[in-house]
Amino acid sequence: RRKWRRVVGVLRDLEEACETSVGRLRQVVDAMAVEMHAGLASEGGSKLKMLLTFVDKLPNGSERGKYYALDLGGTNFRVLRIQLGGKRSSILSCDVERQPIPQDLMTSTSEDLFDFIASSLKQFVEREAQNSEFSSVKRRELGFTFSFPVKQTSVSSGILIKWTKGFSIKDMVGKDVSECLQHAMTRNGLDMRVAVLVNDTVGTLALGHYNDPDTVAAVIIGTGTNACYLERTDAIIKCQGLLTTSGGMVVNMEWGNFWSSHLPRTSYDIDLDGDSPNPNDQGFEKMISGMYLGDIVRRVILRMSQESDIFGPVSSRLSMPFILSTPSMADMHADESPELIEVARILKEDLQIPDVPLKVRKLVVKVCDVVTRRAARLAAAGIVGILKKIGRDGSGGIASGRSRGSDGKMRRTVVAMDGSLYTRYTMFKEYLHEALCEILGEEIAQYVILKVTEDGSGIGAALLAASHSSHS
Ligand code: ADP
Repeated sequence: RRKWRRVVGVLRDLEEACETSVGRLRQVVDAMAVEMHAGLASEGGSKLKMLLTFVDKLPNGSERGKYYALDLGGTNFRVLRIQLGGKRSSILSCDVERQPIPQDLMTSTSEDLFDFIASSLKQFVEREAQNSEFSSVKRRELGFTFSFPVKQTSVSSGILIKWTKGFSIKDMVGKDVSECLQHAMTRNGLDMRVAVLVNDTVGTLALGHYNDPDTVAAVIIGTGTNACYLERTDAIIKCQGLLTTSGGMVVNMEWGNFWSSHLPRTSYDIDLDGDSPNPNDQGFEKMISGMYLGDIVRRVILRMSQESDIFGPVSSRLSMPFILSTPSMADMHADESPELIEVARILKEDLQIPDVPLKVRKLVVKVCDVVTRRAARLAAAGIVGILKKIGRDGSGGIASGRSRGSDGKMRRTVVAMDGSLYTRYTMFKEYLHEALCEILGEEIAQYVILKVTEDGSGIGAALLAASHSSHS
């Protein structure tokens, strides 16, 4: 009995350390808006990089013609082609091809990697030429989604800051990413222009805006997390005299690196960070995204198992980092069977903990709930932080707020959403929405719409190639 009480104590401590009252979430909202401001004020002014994208116009439906996209951001890359009819006719056709990147190319030379990509792209283009009745007279244009940290030098060029996600091609760092691709296409005899170079959030915003012109921001919560939004150029203080026709520019926040003392942090977060290859980096991401949630839960179960024998002898599996994946955690969380058979199965198969009593299985579900609830509510606070920065959170009164249009009516504010945590983890999404309503209040929350926008990283890049085409 005493031992059970100790385990319940571990849960209570966890709940307390993960506390996300509306009051605390509002502090996170304010901190996010303040950090955004600081990141826009000067280079290195905040943990938020607030990177300029040079994307000053978003697709609006008037685009016409055939455009390509290349999406490189992980173990797969995708090539795609879309046909646009203009006049909001929506996307007429879209062909996609996905290919894994051979492991050895991820650590070889930039020439090898880009030759492989360019030749795949060439084959894709040639297959089309055989099918279509006439070949295009215009030069083909491409949107390139490259989801690694890039310092943009223009809308179509940028320098690789560093590799992530298992890539390590040393000669590439510091080089212009588009130039590498452009040279490889030339070597392979493919005549195509890189019209835009963007990251996946910007592609998501572009597709969101194409579908709904009230879309002002995009948030991805998948393996990692990031967000971008449309900012007024005069608010981008670190780039004085920045002029765009629209008066706006998309800013890539790199919000995974956000940090604030108001974030509810546990000893498990501190340990996870310390054990990671990038300590003190990506602090927000480590509390929110798919790469980490399962591992936080694993650490809590390990502590419980060490505190008492309710899980039997301490399984050596529990000490293995990342052995409990976020999809498995989500499956346990979603288990509605009276005996929690899915929880029992995952404990046994993933963690090699067999035969735990029902009340212990219930405890595990509760741990998943606490960890996911905190993640989702913090993500909601981050979103409201963006809305606050652009005056769409309903605060600031009628005079200074931008929540109302010139006619005094409340405006719709749409945020394009993607990533498996939001699209496939039901409880995550529900907690996020609930927190959004709590922070904004029912009245304002009615006008804030989160819209699932899938495949923006590919389709959105092709749409941006169209809106930044040299033909138009
Ligand atoms: P990306 O790697 O491009 O971010 P996703 O948006 O699909 O791709 O995110 C993948 C991440 O989402 C993985 O880290 C995985 O742990 C998590 N994930 C995938 N499916 C689910 C699910 N059904 N429930 C919870 N998490 C999931």
